[in-house]
Amino acid sequence: MSIIRLMTCDSSVEANLIKGRLKNEGIETFITNENFSNLMPHYNRILNSGIQIMISDLDYDTASEILELNTKQEHVCPNCQSSKIKFSLGKNKIRKIFVIIISLLISTPFNNLKSVYKCQDCKTEF
Ligand SMILES: [Zn+2]
Repeated sequence: MSIIRLMTCDSSVEANLIKGRLKNEGIETFITNENFSNLMPHYNRILNSGIQIMISDLDYDTASEILELNTKQEHVCPNCQSSKIKFSLGKNKIRKIFVIIISLLISTPFNNLKSVYKCQDCKTEF
C-alpha cells in the first residue's frame, strides 16, 4: 500500500468537502499543502501545486468512481463529441501573452491565466 495524490483543488473549502464526501463512503484521506496554498494562492496550478487530497492506492479506483473523476486522458468536445481538440490560450490571447511577458519581467506568477481546450470542428472552448 502506498499513498498517492487523488486530485488537486483550488480552495480549502472544495478539498474539505471532497474529503468529507469520501469519509462518508468509508474512505480515509488527508489534505496536504493547505496552508501554503491559502497563504500563496497565486502559486496554485503552477508546477502542480495546490491543495492536494492524498489517498491510499487501494482506494483510488473507488474514490474516482464516487467523485466521477475523468481518469481517461482522451478529451472529446462536449458539444459535438469530436476528438480533434487543440490546447490553446482561449479568448483574449494577446492580453494573456502580454500578462505572461509582464509577469516574467517582474518575476511574479500569473495564476489567473487558464488554458482551454478548443474543438477544431465546432470551435467550442471548454
Ligand atoms: Zn466540437
